[in-house]
Amino acid sequence: MTAADTQASAYLANRDSNDANAGDQLRSIEPATGALVAEYTVDNQADVRAAIARAKQAAGPWWDDGFEGRTRGLLRWRAEIARGAEALADLIHRENGKTMDAARIEILQCLELISWATTNAPRVLGGHEVETRFPHLGGRVEYLPYGVVGVIGPWNFPAMTPMGTVAFAMAAGNAVVFKPSEVTPTVGSWLTDAWGRAVPDSAVLQTVIGFGATGQALVQGGVDKVSFTGSVRTGRGIMAAAAENLTPMLLELGGSDAAVIAVDADPEQAAEAVTWGAFTNTGFGCVAIERAIAVTDVHDAFVQHLVEKVKAIRGAQDQSPQLGAIPVPAHLETIRRHVDDAIARGARVAVGDPAAIAHPFPEPIVLTGVPRNALIAREETFGPTLAVFEVESDDEAIEVANSTSFGLGSAVFSRDRGLEIARQLRAGMTSINGAITFATISSLPFGGGAGISGFGRKHGDEGLLEFARPHAISIKLAEPNVNAASFSAPDGLLEQALARASAQAIAEANSVTN
Ligand code: NDP
Repeated sequence: MTAADTQASAYLANRDSNDANAGDQLRSIEPATGALVAEYTVDNQADVRAAIARAKQAAGPWWDDGFEGRTRGLLRWRAEIARGAEALADLIHRENGKTMDAARIEILQCLELISWATTNAPRVLGGHEVETRFPHLGGRVEYLPYGVVGVIGPWNFPAMTPMGTVAFAMAAGNAVVFKPSEVTPTVGSWLTDAWGRAVPDSAVLQTVIGFGATGQALVQGGVDKVSFTGSVRTGRGIMAAAAENLTPMLLELGGSDAAVIAVDADPEQAAEAVTWGAFTNTGFGCVAIERAIAVTDVHDAFVQHLVEKVKAIRGAQDQSPQLGAIPVPAHLETIRRHVDDAIARGARVAVGDPAAIAHPFPEPIVLTGVPRNALIAREETFGPTLAVFEVESDDEAIEVANSTSFGLGSAVFSRDRGLEIARQLRAGMTSINGAITFATISSLPFGGGAGISGFGRKHGDEGLLEFARPHAISIKLAEPNVNAASFSAPDGLLEQALARASAQAIAEANSVTN
């Protein structure tokens, strides 16, 4: 038995005991070693409801604290995360299986997101006057919090992904109950404990621990908004469950992101960026590049550079690895199925060995000559795989890029036509001459732009507005000349008003069409 086999058996044995106790115990296991990280008693429906009740109590005073008070609390939390940054990185590394550097990226992004949300909340959510077309009426929009936001997070970015909603929801004046993935509960608890040290005795941020049932209890437990990040399948279930109370929601679901390598692309630069975009975080990214679509003129040069660069990635067994472990062994089945299917349909393996798609350290696979009807061309693989497609023109590349049901992120490589091509991609986000760079810019909204990738936004102004409900207020400034909104309005007033408005509508149409 190899060391890897022993680790896999230890991991699976621990996970099996998890399944056996799935009702009330949760054991968090290091994917790379099989060692126990922590053991939890699962929060049941009553526990979740109690957490929501505490959050409801805390939400009012948190809102009353104003932007200044909330900024103080959030910046203390940020400092607490910063003080423990290396310890948190080590925990993310152990519990999720990713490399230390991949864990550090998450924490850097957490620090940045809290900073951005607190700095910009007063500008975006401070309320503003609007122009009206009535001299006697003024208008104002104010932004109020929902109350309690239930945040359900995935395992692949256990700190950074929830932070994109948690920090923004809190900056907007909401309390948050956070349910981390069963795979990474300790990272979620660490963040909440840090909040507890920063702002003692505050229920503005709490964590509930458990499996899907705990998440479901959160969705149905009376929260005022749900923010879910995870798979399309679970997203559908959450939306159905939230329909009962008409709870509004933000859904950040999966993707099958494409990179278009246009006819005028620099093939080496494109290969460099695509290698990062496909294999950073061991490929476990909702916005990981899963498909590279290269126009024939640059295809061979692109593939040549790509193969060199992917082969140079330091594997998980290296002293200083750039790839990590897979924390959900069952997911290997999807990766294998997609790779086998593509090969059976004629794809060639340019890098890697399909037999090495194994627990705990799956190796990168690059497939070329992938036919458009392969599973990997249509579904999310979510792992260290990249499928390369060869097409004849930029237009065909755009068509292939847009041919899945998803519409999350995307990338374009082109010297002169980047923006022109980006505008034709059916996606919520696009990096031009880069990979996943949109995610590092906190002022850009992040989210699904089409299809089954979800809706709503985190990050940016839109990410703050997502967690606030606009309150529209009209203000009477003076007596109107004639008051149409009154039962004392003179007879014929509305008939004359409609005749004037109709004549004006027709004149305006004529002035733009003539
Ligand atoms: P899952 O959908 O399996 O789980 C996501 C979360 O939902 C987990 O906390 C899970 O808990 C919880 N959950 C499961 N069942 C229910 C239920 N019935 N009610 C409420 N909550 C439930 O996703 P993964 O964790 O496997 O994450 C990977 C997926 O997330 C990929 O598809 C990826 O693309 C997507 N993703 C999207 C992002 C985006 O911003 N668009 C960002 C990151 C990932 P438990 O773990 O205990 O089952």
